[in-house]
Amino acid sequence: MNRQELDVIKELANIKIEEILDALGIEYKSKYNYVVCACPIHGGNRQDAWSWHVDRGIWTCFSKGCHEQHGSDIFGLVKAMRDCSFMDAVDFIKGFVNLSMSPDELQKLRDQRENREFIQSTKRKHEKTEVFSPECLNKLEHHGYLETRGYPRWLLDKYHIGACLQTNRYMSNRIVIPVLNRLREIVGFTGRTLDPDWHDKGIPKWKHSNGSWVSSNLFNIHSAAEHIEETGTAILCEGPLDVLRLEEAGIHNSVAILGKKFYTGQMNILIAVGATDLLEALDNDTAGRIGGSSILKTAKTIFGVKRVPIPNGRKDIGEMSVEEIRRVFDVYEEAIRN
Ligand SMILES: [Zn+2]
Repeated sequence: MNRQELDVIKELANIKIEEILDALGIEYKSKYNYVVCACPIHGGNRQDAWSWHVDRGIWTCFSKGCHEQHGSDIFGLVKAMRDCSFMDAVDFIKGFVNLSMSPDELQKLRDQRENREFIQSTKRKHEKTEVFSPECLNKLEHHGYLETRGYPRWLLDKYHIGACLQTNRYMSNRIVIPVLNRLREIVGFTGRTLDPDWHDKGIPKWKHSNGSWVSSNLFNIHSAAEHIEETGTAILCEGPLDVLRLEEAGIHNSVAILGKKFYTGQMNILIAVGATDLLEALDNDTAGRIGGSSILKTAKTIFGVKRVPIPNGRKDIGEMSVEEIRRVFDVYEEAIRN
């Protein structure tokens, strides 16, 4: 069996991947151009730990990296699942593919596959979260509130932070902070009220723009991604003002979950940018609550998680001075050097 024949088998196997997974007894969900399930090799119950990427014809185990041990092509998968030799794996796969196919028939199959991918990618575009045009930033006006809290103007400008001072708007009388995805598209806004009596008036201190975008985004990921990739560590904060304070202190690998809930979608972003360790720096009052949540328990099986101690008398990172931050983060020098 030469390399060319093996490549044809691989290609045909990719086209028939669902049938092969069925035969291997793997239960999966088909999504767009990949299938996903708990890792059938090492077990485990994370339902999205394993995926087959139809566009590339390879598989990945995100939990334990099983593909590295067995090989990420179809042969590696079959060998691992059936605990058999390479040649036995080839024979097994041959049972699903028709090697006597004429070039025309092969082309037809490829077309069908491409057609299916095309339909799915069209669907995907349709479902894609809407992004805001950068022009809407021009509507934000200057306001000195954050400067009175010690945030330098250069930093606020860098993050395009302004205020909505028009009346009868969703974000009226709020400092408005745009949230960007990794592609630097604006996916939403979060706003901090400027009303000093917000508490007594029952006005929410923070408010997000409409939609369910928060659960699949992290504030500052557009800027922190490369630093997280470099250090392997992400600092997990609650709000954007915490992140800004860290940025001011020269620490660039922090993101904010934008509230009191850490979502699976947010965790997946951190996995995707190569985080292996989390420094959890949530507010003192939230940490206790989220700390026991199932999502952070899950996170602890995926990342090394350490709690950053926030000094007594300080509610969150945002309330700390740059000097205090440097002192607290000094012990994590390895994790934040960048
Ligand atoms: Zn695995």
